Amino acid sequence: MKILVLNSGSSSIKYALFEMQSKAALITGLIERIGEQASVHSYHVDSHDSKLDMLIDTHQQGLTVIFNALSELGLIETSTELMCIGHRVVHGGEYFHQPTLIDEQVLAKIKQISNLAPLHNPANIMGIEAATAYAENIPQVAIFDTAFHQTMPAYAYQYAVPQAWYIENGVRRYGFHGTSHFYVAKQAADYLHKPLAALNLITLHLGNGASVTAISQGKSVDTSMGMTPLEGVMMGTRSGDLDPAIIFYLQRLGFSAEKIEKALNKESGLKGICNANDMRAVQKKAAAGDELAQLALAMYSYRLKKYIGAYSAVLGGVDAIIFTGGIGENAADIRQACCSDLSFMGIEVDKQANQQGDYNISTDNSRVKVLVIATNEELEPIKTLSRIFVLCFLLPS
Ligand code: ADP
Repeated sequence: MKILVLNSGSSSIKYALFEMQSKAALITGLIERIGEQASVHSYHVDSHDSKLDMLIDTHQQGLTVIFNALSELGLIETSTELMCIGHRVVHGGEYFHQPTLIDEQVLAKIKQISNLAPLHNPANIMGIEAATAYAENIPQVAIFDTAFHQTMPAYAYQYAVPQAWYIENGVRRYGFHGTSHFYVAKQAADYLHKPLAALNLITLHLGNGASVTAISQGKSVDTSMGMTPLEGVMMGTRSGDLDPAIIFYLQRLGFSAEKIEKALNKESGLKGICNANDMRAVQKKAAAGDELAQLALAMYSYRLKKYIGAYSAVLGGVDAIIFTGGIGENAADIRQACCSDLSFMGIEVDKQANQQGDYNISTDNSRVKVLVIATNEELEPIKTLSRIFVLCFLLPS
């Protein structure tokens, strides 16, 4: 049996088809620029990469393209060969603590929560609806980015604002990237030959979006993203932490709420400082002497370092710091900069191991291990889905 995992963004669908037994990816692919003039379908199968330009107007059409490709490549003939379809859903509010089988009520709840993640959940819902239309009788499971963080204590997830905002309007820290933080934490536990429940970890997921999580005895106890993915560390185009009074100051100057929201989400972060949001481009500009790019890099690492310090205090001792995501896995200079001068906390990065991109980049003396672990947000759901499938569909009731 096979499992399809879909990650639907506002204008993209990432997908991966896995063989359940071996958990091997049979194909991974991406449809980008849905609804734009030139969409692209790229996929990786049998060590070959393919890229096709096409016109794809809707998520429904995108899924048809994916299913046609799966059939043409001989990977599945009909949707009935699928054991289930897993969907990444960004926001599960306080309702969803674990992956959940989607039925009408669950879908209605995900829709209801959408106002908490207006830039993300609607796209996830489009993916669910498109997949349901295509594979009506195949179980669909939602895997929530927020679920792993539901173990945070109230003193970490509550904002110091009127309590009614939380009770009546759901204003609190939810946290995101949960699947990735959990996946790399488990990988680290395997590497360290210790049970996850015995470890204190700081995980840094640094992609276009970025978040840092404090994991105590295997459970998320604090995380840098908040009610939305805007809070926390500096990101490609998102500001991360800022004084909320800046927003009202700008409003009084005549900026609309929409303009400010767009600027903080899409025109801030690395891009806001040096007009480039891709880390490789920022590094290139900085190396060529661009002072704003150099400032952006310094700010990026400085803000990460503050979270490493804060979460070390939260955890009262750290076994390992884990870097993941496109930047965490590849940008050695960023890893070095945010761990610099932390030997007083038992954190020492080995320059050579770091430049080489070793798995363990800490020195032998470093009390805290520093690890670089490739995330696999698609694989983690497979393991979970396999377990859910066994529980829901194979065990006698
Ligand atoms: P997403 O959040 O979209 O999944 P990724 O995890 O793929 O993003 O991370 C994208 C980021 O990783 C980009 O800023 C990109 O420049 C950066 N990145 C990828 N490869 C490298 C590299 N070799 N060196 C530095 N940064 C890199």
